[in-house]
Amino acid sequence: MDATEFRRRGKEMVDLIADYLENIEQRTVYPDVEPGYLRSLIPEEAPEEPDTYEDVVKDIERVIMPGVTHWHSPYFYAYFPTANSFPAMLADMLSGAIGCIGFSWAASPACTELETVMMDWLGKMLKLPEDFIAGTHGQGGGVIQGTASEATLVALLAARCRAVRMILASDPQRPETGITSKLVAYSSDQAHCSVERAGMIAGVRMKKIPTEQSDKYAVQGETLRRMIQEDKAAGLIPFYFCATLGTTPSCAFDHITELGHVSGPALYVSKIWMHIDAAYAGSSFICPEFRPLLNGIEFADSFNFNAHKWLLVNFDCSTMWVKKRSDLIGAFKMDPLYLKHDHQDVHSVCSTNPNPLIPLCLILSPTLPHPTAPSTSPYRTLSPPVPHTTSQHWQIPLGRRFRSLKMWFVFRMYGLKGLQDYIRKHVELAKEFESLVRADQRFEISADVVLGLVCFRLKGSNEVNETLLKRINNGRKIHLVPCLLSGQFVLRFALCARTTESRHIREAWQLITQLAEEVMQELPH
Ligand code: PLP
Repeated sequence: MDATEFRRRGKEMVDLIADYLENIEQRTVYPDVEPGYLRSLIPEEAPEEPDTYEDVVKDIERVIMPGVTHWHSPYFYAYFPTANSFPAMLADMLSGAIGCIGFSWAASPACTELETVMMDWLGKMLKLPEDFIAGTHGQGGGVIQGTASEATLVALLAARCRAVRMILASDPQRPETGITSKLVAYSSDQAHCSVERAGMIAGVRMKKIPTEQSDKYAVQGETLRRMIQEDKAAGLIPFYFCATLGTTPSCAFDHITELGHVSGPALYVSKIWMHIDAAYAGSSFICPEFRPLLNGIEFADSFNFNAHKWLLVNFDCSTMWVKKRSDLIGAFKMDPLYLKHDHQDVHSVCSTNPNPLIPLCLILSPTLPHPTAPSTSPYRTLSPPVPHTTSQHWQIPLGRRFRSLKMWFVFRMYGLKGLQDYIRKHVELAKEFESLVRADQRFEISADVVLGLVCFRLKGSNEVNETLLKRINNGRKIHLVPCLLSGQFVLRFALCARTTESRHIREAWQLITQLAEEVMQELPH
C-alpha cells in the first residue's frame, strides 16, 4: 500500500469506524460464539501471496465482529468503562504514524516533553499537591503507565527498594535477603486482584485488611494500625500499603487521611509507602464535588488512575504520579551506553527549574549517603539523579508509545468543563438507575451509589440472583457482571458507554424486571 492508496483506504476506514460506532446499539452487545469459533473461519497459515485490502475488510464482519463484545454499546454495563472518543482515536492514528519508541528525551523529545506537561495538566485538574507536579519546585512528577496493575507493581517495587535502602543506611552489615524476607505489604480485602499479584511478582508478603459492610467496605485506620503493630512485634517490616479509591466490586473508598496518619513516617523502621489505586474513580476527581474523595492525597507516595477508563482517552493511558521521582527512578535505573544521550541528566527541558543554570538533578539531594564500598546491588547504590528526560526509568518496559497525544487532543477538544459534564452525566444516569431499583420492593441496593456504579440484587438467595444474571447475559441485549459483597451475590450495573442515555437505562431496567419476574416464578427465593 502506498501513500495514495492509504489516503483512500484511510478515509474508508474512518467511515467504517464512524458507522460502527453510530450503529453499535443495533448489535447484540455480547457475542454468541463458543471458544475456538475463530480458528475455523480463517486459514491455518498466513497467506503466501498477499490478500487484497477488500478481502481483509470483508472479513471484519465475517470473522471479527461475531466475536466482539461491544464495550462501547450503550447496553454494555459490565466491569468498569473503557474510554472512547473521536479526538482520542484521531490522536492514536497520529501516534501510530509517528511510531516512535519514546523511552528517553533523545529518542523523541516531543513524546517525552508532552507527556510530562500533560501529566501536569491532569495533575492540576485533579488539584494534586504541588509535590506531584513536575513543573514546580517539587521532586515529583507523572508518567503514563499501561495499566493500573503495572502502576501498583512499579510502586511496590520502588517501595521495596526504598525500604531496604533505608534499613541498610542504618545497618549496612545486615544481609539484604534478611530484610526482604521480612517485608510485609497491605491492601484491603476489596482491593483489585492486581494488588495481590504485585505482591506475588515482587516476592513479598501481601496481607489483606478485612473490611465490613457497616463501614462501607472502607479500610479502618484502627485495623491497619493493629495489623502493623502485630507484624512489627513478630519481627516483620511493614513497608507498603495500597489504598483503593473506588473498589472494583462496589466502588468503596478508603479514607486516606486516616490511613495516611496510621502509615505515616514517624512510626516505623522504614517509612511505609502509601500507593493509591483509583483506577476507575480517579477521573471523577476533576469535578469539585467529587474531589473530597481524594483528600489525604498529601500522605501518599504514589497515586494512579486509568484515564483510559473514564476520561475519554482510549486505552491505554494509566496515569501515575509520584511525590519523589528519585524513589521510583532509584529502583529501576539502568544506563547502558547505547541508551545514553547528551541531555539525560538535564531536567530543565521539562520542569521549571528555579535556577536554569544548575540542572535540577544536582540540586536535589539523594536519599541515601554514599555506600562505603562499591556494590552492584540496587539497594546499596546511591539514588540516581532525577531528570525527567528518560521515561524508561519510570516503568518496567523500555519502549513506550506516544500516548500523551491522546490526552492532548482530548483535553483541548473537550476542555475541563466538557470532561466534567461527561463524568456528571454518568453519575446522574447511575442515580436514575438507583432510583428505579429502589422503587421496586423486590430489589435492594447493596452499596452506596457514589459514582457511576450501582450494586443491586433481588431480595433473596444467591441462587435466584445468579440465575437472574445468567438470564440477562444469555439474552445478550445488555451485559452485566457480578460481585460478591459480604457473601451475597450482587449484580453490578456500571455506566460505561459514552453514548448511554436515560432511555437505555430504562430499557435495561425493563428487561431486568421482566427476567426477574420469570426467575422468581421458577425458583424459591
Ligand atoms: N484497580 C482497580 C480498582 C480496578 O477496578 C481495576 C480494573 O478495573 C484495576 C485495578 C486493574 O486495572 P488495569 O486493567 O488497568 O490493570
